[in-house]
Formats: sequence, C-alpha cells, structure tokens
Amino acid sequence: MKVSLMFKPFDGQMKYPDMEKRILDWWEGNGIFDKLRTQLADKPTWSFFDGPITANNAMGVHHAWGRTYKDIYCRYKAMKGYNQRWQNGFDCQGLWVEVEVEKALGFDSKRDIEEYGLEKFSLACRARVDKYAERIVQQSIRMGQWMNWYHEDGHPASYFTMDDNNIEHIWHFLSVCNEKGWLYKGHRSMPWCWRCGTSLSQHELVDSYKEQIDPSCFFRCQVEDRPNEYFLVWTTTPWTLTANTALAIQPEANYAKVRLDNDTYYLMKALVEKVMPKETELIETVPGKELIGLSFHGPMENLPVQAEVTRRTVAWDMVSEEEGTGIVHIAPGCGAEDFQLSQDIGLDIIVPIDDNGYFTNRMGWLKGKHVRDTAEDIRQDLDTRGVLFRWEDYEHRYPFCWRCKTPLVFRLADEWFIAAD
Ligand SMILES: [Zn+2]
Repeated sequence: MKVSLMFKPFDGQMKYPDMEKRILDWWEGNGIFDKLRTQLADKPTWSFFDGPITANNAMGVHHAWGRTYKDIYCRYKAMKGYNQRWQNGFDCQGLWVEVEVEKALGFDSKRDIEEYGLEKFSLACRARVDKYAERIVQQSIRMGQWMNWYHEDGHPASYFTMDDNNIEHIWHFLSVCNEKGWLYKGHRSMPWCWRCGTSLSQHELVDSYKEQIDPSCFFRCQVEDRPNEYFLVWTTTPWTLTANTALAIQPEANYAKVRLDNDTYYLMKALVEKVMPKETELIETVPGKELIGLSFHGPMENLPVQAEVTRRTVAWDMVSEEEGTGIVHIAPGCGAEDFQLSQDIGLDIIVPIDDNGYFTNRMGWLKGKHVRDTAEDIRQDLDTRGVLFRWEDYEHRYPFCWRCKTPLVFRLADEWFIAAD
C-alpha cells in the first residue's frame, strides 16, 4: 500500500512571527472582523463585558494569557452565531496608576504629590493611562485579539473607567447606598501603608506576608507603688510602645513571680524557662486572675500623649502560651485585636503616627520622626530609662503593601464603609 503525503515536508525553518503577521495582514486587508460583525448584527446577543486591564504599563505575559481565553470565548460564541459588544475596557484609576507615575517622577510620598500639585499629578496619571492604553491596544492587535479597537473616526472604542460617564454612575451608586442608609463612617484599626498613605482591606493582605527581621523586644513595666516589681512584656513592634494603654493577662493561666538580681518579675509560668536566664529563682505561682486590675508604669509614659492615660492590667483570653511572656502589650491605636479589646472593655486609645508614618505632635521627642527609622532610638530610650530587658533580632512573617512592598503598620483610621449585613 502506498501512503501519499498530503503536506509538503516541513524543513524546520518556519518563522512563526512571519506567519502570524501574514494572517493579521490578511484579516486586515480583507476586513474580516468587520465582515463578521456585519454578518452577526441582527443575531441574538451574547454578552461579554470585559473586566478591564489597568493601563498603567505595557501588557505582561499574564495579561496576554488571560486575554487569550477571553478571545477564544468571544470567537467561539461568534462562530455559534451570536452578536457581541466587542468592547475592551481600561481601568484608569487608583494606586496602580499613581504608584507608577510617582516612580516615574521620582516621588517618595504623598507629600511629594502635594508639592507637585494635585491637578498636575492627576493630568500626569491620565497621560500615562492614554499612553499605555494605546500601547496595550497595539499589543492586543498583534496578539490577534478581536475587539472593536477604534471607532471610525479613529478614537479608541474601549471604555475607560476615568470617563465622566463612568464616574457619575459610581457617584450615583454611592448616593443610592446613602439614601438607603448603608453608607457609614467607621473607626477601625486597619493595615496601613505609610508610603501610599492609605489603608488596605483584608483581601489585599492575602499573599502579602514575607519573612522579615524585626526586633524582639522584652521590656519591663513597674507595678504601681511596688518598687522593683515588674511585669515582663514582649513586642516585635517597639514603636507601638508609644501607644501602650494596657497589659493583657490570660486569666486562666498560672503566672510565675520570679527573682532575678534584685528585681521581681511576673510572667506566664509556662514561658519562664524559655525567657528567663538560668539563675532566675521562682518565688511563687500566682493565678492569672489575681494579676488583673493593677496599675503599672507604661513603657513610654514620659511622652506628653501618655499623661492622661489610665493604664491597667486586663483579662484577655487571646493571650497565648506560645511566645512572648504571657503578658501582652496592648496599643489599641496600632492593632486590630487591640482595638477590638479596647472597644469591649473601654481602654484609652492613642494613634501615634499620621497618614505618612510620622509621629504626631504629642509624641514628645519622637515628634516628626518616621516610624521606619526609630527602632534604634527607641531601644536606647528604653535602655536609658531602665525599661529594656532584652533586645534581639526576630525573624517572622510580616505583611507588606502589595503595591509598593513597604512593610505595613496597623493604624486606627476613619474609613467609609458600605453596610452589607
Ligand atoms: Zn504601599
């Protein structure tokens, strides 16, 4: 039996880009896409609404990947005889664009933007969107994606979220929410990026954790009116000691009263071996609940903002036996759980830093310093005042801003919410 070859032998010299360009030229030259649209104009509609790509940069491989799927579905439905909108979208607002413009202009913070001028900055953002929207259109055409890229007059046919039309619809949506009483201003402790000057939502924290080395700071707080008697406390964020207003104790656990040199310390019994040097002597075991309601000297009580704070030890069942000392430093202005506790039992709240991470006016010697570079100053301050017990490096998982890779802080902020309950 004789087998005849249907195809010419392949010489291995195929130039795929040339082949692609030939096909694109043939589509273009014969108006294939326009013919398809004319042919389907009066057919039933299949609705595809493009989830817009952010026009802050040229397309990446991951975008091309996603667009390939979109294109396949639209072509498949077209072959099945459905008419379509064929409209691409561009996402134009938000920090994705702003961060790129800031980088291009060499800016470091929100303050730089204000000095540059908000209108000028906003125009620069729009210009970047226009530039990269056009670039993405060209890349998409080259990919072979079928969309209605241009109107007959040559203007882009894509939708842009920065169009007044779109913005007015969003305002309308918000006004409807407001009429229904769903819009409210809340006071919450949020993950905060001081570089971007904004809070992050919970879903923005997913995959944002990385290994980071922070100080592991053990410090001591003297029990009120009991010289040489201290609560031993631990933190990995020494800057939040500025906002300390309470210490939390696990009421169900046993605590050890121990002696080291001429001082007496309280810490969770289960953690004594891990935390204290060998020569430490156990004096007695005290139930956690007996240590609740005591006044103490705050680790940074010399700051003006601390003057009218009422500090006390409080019960909290979230105190863990795993790490630290079993006595937890509480700063309701700097942590979500701490804030919740303060709301439940009524604790004073201090918000030590502003939007951009600078210590505020009532922070004494820290005023105007940046949270990013105060760890060493705070270490020295604690040491000088006899508050520091031990300071080491500590590697742990810590959340970072997904936009600019800055380590996040937690900060109490006023935010607008739409009630969804
Ligand atoms: Zn950021």
